[in-house]
Amino acid sequence: MRKALLLAGILGVSAIGASTLATAQPGDTGRAAFRQIYEEMVEIDSSPTTGSCTKVVRAAETRLKAAGFTAQDYEVIIPPNKPDDGNIVAKIRAQNPTKKGVLLMGHIDVVDARREDWERDPFTLFEENGYFYGRGTADMKGQAAVWLDLMIRLKQEAGFKPSRDVVLALTCGEETSNRVNGIDYILTNHKPWFDVAFALNEGAGGLLSADGKALVLQIQAGEKIHQVFELEVTNPGGHSSRPMKENAIYQLMAATKKVSALSFPVQVTPVNREYFRITGPILGGEIGKAMSAVAKDPNDQAALKVLQADPSYNASLHTTCVATQLQAGHAPNALPQRATTTLSCRVMQGTTPEQVKATLEETIGDPNVKVSIVRRREGSTAPPLTDEIMGPVKAQAAKMWPGVPIAPLMTAGATDGRFLMNAGVPTYGLSGMFSKTGENNAHGLNEKLRVQSLYEGRDFLEAVVRAYVK
Ligand SMILES: [Zn+2]
Repeated sequence: MRKALLLAGILGVSAIGASTLATAQPGDTGRAAFRQIYEEMVEIDSSPTTGSCTKVVRAAETRLKAAGFTAQDYEVIIPPNKPDDGNIVAKIRAQNPTKKGVLLMGHIDVVDARREDWERDPFTLFEENGYFYGRGTADMKGQAAVWLDLMIRLKQEAGFKPSRDVVLALTCGEETSNRVNGIDYILTNHKPWFDVAFALNEGAGGLLSADGKALVLQIQAGEKIHQVFELEVTNPGGHSSRPMKENAIYQLMAATKKVSALSFPVQVTPVNREYFRITGPILGGEIGKAMSAVAKDPNDQAALKVLQADPSYNASLHTTCVATQLQAGHAPNALPQRATTTLSCRVMQGTTPEQVKATLEETIGDPNVKVSIVRRREGSTAPPLTDEIMGPVKAQAAKMWPGVPIAPLMTAGATDGRFLMNAGVPTYGLSGMFSKTGENNAHGLNEKLRVQSLYEGRDFLEAVVRAYVK
């Protein structure tokens, strides 16, 4: 998951420390089988430098076949000339579907991990002190294993008659741009697999207090879109002994400075507003108060100002563009012929690249500065939190974590959900796996996941999926 949750750094006090939650109950036999799937997945290296997604895919295929999935029920999809970037999709068909299906999606690639930097072998699953350790334990082989295990059990369950298709997609390429993104690839080349009503993805879990109490269950509903722009000034140049008034670097600097002062209009989306309403009282303090005030009145300028002073909340409130790269000139003794600034824009859903471009051009107000779209990502829309989606989430959360509020959140970073949302499939991030802020250390050293959180997440996701397809 390439993103920072909004609460990151705010709530977490201690990143280490024993949980005060009761230890996980010894599970059913199904839990042991699930744990084996999880272990196998973590222990197959699927990092870009030394690993292979296809190996994970083949292991999953073996399990699906053993469970009774036939060649019509699943497909291994390997992009041409990318033998290690494999994906697998599978489907349990409804006999008389009343609605389009539900997609259970998870990326199976992980970030590189170097044995010499880790305390334990990153590609061996260790269970110690209430945690599972290993690369991908948290991001996101836990949830991927939950999906695979659930598909297998549903397939084998006598009398399981879903009202709609249940579709699984375990895909590669979420963590790095060097690989083929599986979701994007399948949408382009095998789209019928994704003809579904909505998708469940990574992107949100639950938050524990410093002493291990469940504070809030999160559901990710929407994420910002990464669009890249370039500002460019060109000039015939000439000898540096003969400076001219028109100078590509000076013109570009002036334009870049204007962009640095640009603030896109604040958008307190319904998800923002609900997030602030739930989270404000939990956080308390100046920020918490400001959240509660904005939840009450989204035009409360004083409260908005407090939130905008925090980079995380500022990012959630509007489109941002920031200069990330600069290139100019070709020789120390020549007038610059070209100067460019790269802008990384994180755009609120519903805003098109053309709209951002127009705002940039208007802000710069100089026809000599050419604004172009380098990476186009469409506007898409934030997925609505309908009763159909929220009903089962609320019901199961009330059983498992009574009294714990549910906060929808929009992330400022991106997941694979962006491709599906662009394709019109509402995609929600939901795992039911609680952690303290930052404790999983996803992408970092000694990545880990609470044992209890994994098993609770499994129970939670199973109940929610069963309700969706009942
Ligand atoms: Zn991830």
